[in-house]
Amino acid sequence: MVKIQKPRIDPDSVLGMLRRILSENGRDYIGTYAIAIVCLMSVALSTAFMAWILGDMVDEAFAKQRGEVVWLICGSIFLAFLLRGLASYGQAVALAKIGNNIVARYQRRLFSHLMELGVGFLGETRSAQLASQIGQNAGGIRDVLNLTITSLAKDLLTLVALVGVMIYRDWMLTAVVFLVGPPMVLALRYIAKRLRAVTREAVVVNSRVYGVMQETLQGIAIVKAFTMEDQLRGKINALVTDAEARSNRITRLSERTSPLTETLAGLAISGVLFYAAINTIYYDALPGDFISFIGALLLAYDPARRLARLQVNMERAAVNARMIYEILDIIPHQPDTPDAEKLEVSGGEIRLENVSFGYSAVSPVLSDVSFVAEAGKTTALVGPSGAGKTTIVNLLPRFYDISEGCIRIDGQDIARVTKQSLRHSLAYVSQHPYLFEGSLRDNIRYGRPEATDAEVEEAARLAYAHDFILEQPKGYDTLVGEGGSTLSGGQRQRLSIARALIRNAPILLLDEATSALDTESEVFVQKALDRAMSGRTVLVIAHRLSTIARADKIIVMMQGKVAEEGTHQQLSALEDGTYARFLKLQALGLDEGDDQNLELLAGGEKK
Ligand code: ADP
Repeated sequence: MVKIQKPRIDPDSVLGMLRRILSENGRDYIGTYAIAIVCLMSVALSTAFMAWILGDMVDEAFAKQRGEVVWLICGSIFLAFLLRGLASYGQAVALAKIGNNIVARYQRRLFSHLMELGVGFLGETRSAQLASQIGQNAGGIRDVLNLTITSLAKDLLTLVALVGVMIYRDWMLTAVVFLVGPPMVLALRYIAKRLRAVTREAVVVNSRVYGVMQETLQGIAIVKAFTMEDQLRGKINALVTDAEARSNRITRLSERTSPLTETLAGLAISGVLFYAAINTIYYDALPGDFISFIGALLLAYDPARRLARLQVNMERAAVNARMIYEILDIIPHQPDTPDAEKLEVSGGEIRLENVSFGYSAVSPVLSDVSFVAEAGKTTALVGPSGAGKTTIVNLLPRFYDISEGCIRIDGQDIARVTKQSLRHSLAYVSQHPYLFEGSLRDNIRYGRPEATDAEVEEAARLAYAHDFILEQPKGYDTLVGEGGSTLSGGQRQRLSIARALIRNAPILLLDEATSALDTESEVFVQKALDRAMSGRTVLVIAHRLSTIARADKIIVMMQGKVAEEGTHQQLSALEDGTYARFLKLQALGLDEGDDQNLELLAGGEKK
């Protein structure tokens, strides 16, 4: 029987997390950690020194009344405080520097990782919630590291040094004090375990709160139009109440450590005081030893309490760290094949050969689709909604990988070229033009970051955007409202056409807008598109009869299959053809290019 070897440290445990974080980052911070540790040790030793010197102070100054050593003792106490102050500053600054750098480093790592992930993953995840989770969790990694370093170097060391003083002064008493240890450890372990679950739930609920808020604000026009305010308010209220209750639970649980540690410490300290007082009163012992012992005990209380809570705090920080790693560990599916080469585009011919695809294994969306979009020509995809047109366009940049068949550009299988080179040769204009945060100029330049200002303006002119851009308050430097809300639909489309133009890619993927623009915008958008299309291989999801009729080739899609293909003339000549029926509907005066016409058509087909 094969014996599966269990890893010695569970990677999900606090220790496992710590090991992973250290192995990924530790090396880069060795120098700064060394400084922090020296400072932390200075803090620990100066604290212990103070407890130790207390005894001598009491004996020499008060019991023996030796004036000449008093100034020496007092001077050294002052110096110890001075050293402690400087060292505390040094360790705090060094640790904060590492902590902030760690947060920054994980934010960068997460962002580039998220961009690597497939459209599929991001399509299934609520982006606002994801962003909020990252915000809450990035600090977790910093806390894991800082808690460990502070606790081990400072608190543990201080404690050891103080216990040393205690043993030196009275070892019997020290042993008695240590009896409170075991019950404390057991109780704390129990609390830490319960906290693990609650903390994770709290992060999730909090990110849902922020997610709903952000999505509501983004869709505020729809919220108001559908008077959804009360429903959403109810939803947020419930979530917020839940988050509030969980926060309270976390506090109650983690603060349960306080009454516990205080009670046990009180027991130990009052017991020691009682014993010391009896000894001094009835047995004439010098008070110095006891004072020093009690001083060390009191000073040891804080670091001991912090160490006791370490597991509890670490458990919370580790939950955050773990959630970050859950995202980082998602492997971007569809990496480039090892032998992937650069795509070399000459004409830009797109060829689909028996392509089958489904978003999930159970429901195929495309089956056995084959057609050629010739180089430098316009090919229109036509068909009722749900026929698979958008899916075809999504497959070209390899947002998803096909299950069967092959897609070739100029003869090269796109599954075997680098995604970077593939996407560089494509420009995409969607029917919902998306504008990013930044100026109008930036938004055009995203098409090709190295473009000069003159090239940006040239592209804008070609896309009939130059004039309206100049009318904006700051021209090209006008900042875009969220999603381009200060611009009209037609203007946004012309901007996204300018973005595609400046990219100067040989292949243009176009998703024609279904919603009608006003006539004037329509004319400009159409002219801009004509310019973008000329001389390129264009694959257009077409809705308007004018676009369809002018296309060099029309592919009629039906339920994931190619139903007909040919030119406008050829297809309209087929008496009983799907396309011919579509034209008849148009002739009846139904709205041009309305998706519903084609759906009617699909209904006709079924009969
Ligand atoms: P069209 O563009 O012709 O309207 P689509 O390509 O958008 O059609 O959709 C084809 C089919 O694929 C539809 O049944 C749709 O429900 C499904 N579909 C589209 N996008 C996704 C997705 N991201 N995940 C799962 N199914 C999808």
